[in-house]
Amino acid sequence: MNNLFSILHNTPLFQEGTIEFDKPIKPLTSYKIGGSAEAVFFPKTEENLKEALIFLSKNKIPASLIGGGTNILVSDKGFKGVLISLKNLNKIEIVSESQGKIFVRAGAGVLIDDLTKWAANNSVSGLDAFGGLPGTVGGALFMNARCYDVSISDRVKSVKYILEDDEKTRFEEYEYKAADWDYKVSPFQPSSISTEITKDRKIVLSAVFTLTYGIKEEITSKTEEKIQDRISKGHFKAPSAGSTFKNNRTFGVPSGKLIEDAGLKGLCEGGAQVAPWHGNFIINKDGASASDVKILIEKVQETVKDKTGFLLEPEVIFAGDWS
Ligand SMILES: Cc1cc2nc3c(=O)[nH]c(=O)nc-3n(C[C@H](O)[C@H](O)[C@H](O)COP(=O)(O)OP(=O)(O)OC[C@H]3O[C@@H](n4cnc5c(N)ncnc54)[C@H](O)[C@@H]3O)c2cc1C
Repeated sequence: MNNLFSILHNTPLFQEGTIEFDKPIKPLTSYKIGGSAEAVFFPKTEENLKEALIFLSKNKIPASLIGGGTNILVSDKGFKGVLISLKNLNKIEIVSESQGKIFVRAGAGVLIDDLTKWAANNSVSGLDAFGGLPGTVGGALFMNARCYDVSISDRVKSVKYILEDDEKTRFEEYEYKAADWDYKVSPFQPSSISTEITKDRKIVLSAVFTLTYGIKEEITSKTEEKIQDRISKGHFKAPSAGSTFKNNRTFGVPSGKLIEDAGLKGLCEGGAQVAPWHGNFIINKDGASASDVKILIEKVQETVKDKTGFLLEPEVIFAGDWS
């Protein structure tokens, strides 16, 4: 840690953005769970991020990437090395308009909530399904977030990203191809989904969305409807990472229903609980540790497997040092 501090503290590129040492992660996540990161770096610009990635890889310093922290369970030991947040890449701009379409670029660090509000305020239609979705543009692209039967990929035109490749780390452009995407699958996911930045990791910098103009009041009310629906379903009643398990279509019913039918709603492990109001939400009820949540996830998997034969696949990503 002291060694890392002196290396990074004395390297000007880390002073260009903001760097914080021994930073507790809980406040950076929707679960409000997790240990500390040895360092958290907020690059100022895309170029600053690229230089940092090259430096970290050259010096063999582990690096990880966090968006809004709304789909991750950070271990009680936290993160080794440097955790990178792109919250400074937060610009939203109209890039062009053609034949009734409007192309909007949003930085990876833009909160989806801010993007949907921006769209409504500017009479831009097409993102209302994402009203109230926690997290950032980068995280939504990576996860291919899906809300009310609309996937974020349904609106993507192109993406600018960095390809991590040691000293050859470089900027790349991606053009949308339907075949690259599926339910919770995006072309930015490595074979093993994690927060770690290793060789060949694609780091989303910004995305261009294909949208249309609409009527401001209608867009605003559709967006607000979704937010209210989430509130009524108890999404924000307790800290969580949203749905714990993916909805596997071959199971025939949503994962939450399988969990409910197995009688698991309300089940507790330490401070963690299967939400009494939503089978697929595992909540931090009362100061849960990451281990509490992980054990509860495993218990739910075992019970559902015993009762139905289906193995639920976690959607939540285990992040940080689980060794
Ligand atoms: C109450 C609640 C409700 C939710 N409802 C939904 C829902 O309806 N639909 C849905 O799909 N999800 C839902 N989620 C889950 C979550 O909000 C989404 O998956 C969201 O898109 C994650 O974004 P994030 O920025 O928080 O990513 P994080 O949780 O910070 O990170 C998730 C993954 O994305 C990677 N990542 C982050 N930024 C980038 C980037 N710039 N480039 C490359 N990789 C990156 C991270 O390394 C990590 O592996 C919900 C969560 C909560 C708490």
